[in-house]
Amino acid sequence: MSSSAPSSIDMLQRLVAFDTTSRNSNLELIQYIQGYLEDYGVRSTLVPNEDGTKANLYASIGPEAEGGIVLSGHTDVVPVDGQAWVTDPWTLSEKPHGNLYGRGTCDMKGFIATCLSHVPAFQHAKLKVPMHFAFSYDEEIGCLGAHSLAEKLMGNVPRPQAVIVGEPTMMGVVNAQNAGGGHVAIFTGVEAHSSMTHLGVSAIHFAGDFIHWLNELQVELAERKRTDTIPGHTTINIGIVGGGTAGNILARECTLRWGYRTLPGDDAWEVQRRAEKYVAELLLPKMKAKHPDANITLERRSFVPGLKPEENEEAAKLALQWTGGNRTYAVPYGTEAGIFRGHGIPTVICGPGDISQAHQPNEFVARSQMDACDAFIGRMIGWAERQ
Ligand SMILES: [Zn+2]
Repeated sequence: MSSSAPSSIDMLQRLVAFDTTSRNSNLELIQYIQGYLEDYGVRSTLVPNEDGTKANLYASIGPEAEGGIVLSGHTDVVPVDGQAWVTDPWTLSEKPHGNLYGRGTCDMKGFIATCLSHVPAFQHAKLKVPMHFAFSYDEEIGCLGAHSLAEKLMGNVPRPQAVIVGEPTMMGVVNAQNAGGGHVAIFTGVEAHSSMTHLGVSAIHFAGDFIHWLNELQVELAERKRTDTIPGHTTINIGIVGGGTAGNILARECTLRWGYRTLPGDDAWEVQRRAEKYVAELLLPKMKAKHPDANITLERRSFVPGLKPEENEEAAKLALQWTGGNRTYAVPYGTEAGIFRGHGIPTVICGPGDISQAHQPNEFVARSQMDACDAFIGRMIGWAERQ
């Protein structure tokens, strides 16, 4: 590597300084990355969203050949609102405990920084197969950008051999992940004074029935316990409830944001299907019987496909070679891995930092994790020279 090359930690410092909370544009960060790549003679392509306020970026280094590696990461981060940060979340800081603090350090600018800091090394190496970068927007709100990114990338480069999604796994190799759906349920009631309940319909009461039904479904699904993941069963969560205008009025509207995560290999659509059936056949008729104007709509806002181990052996073998590990892991959370796998490319998740740090105040990545990721990419370069 030439002396002008930034270290992974230098690069992390630069990336953390961009507030890429998912509600914001990520364009400043993307333009920075594009400029940085250009400085090293690497051409990149942007894949913008519909209104042009955000963009994915992909770039390839090395020969235009089959069998390359895709290094995938998301550029957005979760909000810091209301969190008690000791340091400025947008300034990389080594205090208080010698770890590297800042929003996105672990999820997942640490990985992207390591990839970018190796651009000069990729350029100097005699790569026999290409390295592709695939950096997305809006992962944290449902992997929204990755769909168009994966499609464009796979349509424009010779077939890669494997995808590495650098979400925080403490550099363990993950070849199985849950699928997940994000949903909104909107209950429309009919307002009436609370002394005249026979004249209206409370949207909140019926939303309560739905919540109760989801809870019972969760108990039933938990009985199909498996041991290959933690917690070992499909999980359901109701994350946000909103509705009502006053204590003495039957609520006209109640909205639930809810979602579920299904184990690798299980039917990823079961929860949605059963929810739709319950609402259509039982809950909605009961509500309409009280008043014909009452209504319930179920909407899916996002879906992240899962990852099955047997489909990703080729990628796992390579990643284990580069981490020096001897086993693979499963994770319960969703990542963009399932989207790449959907394009038929073996995919694993492997990146620096601990997922328990992700989304937390005082998020950090340990220096030793950044070092381990540097070593991982170094071995990957060696492998790519020998192909
Ligand atoms: Zn992430």
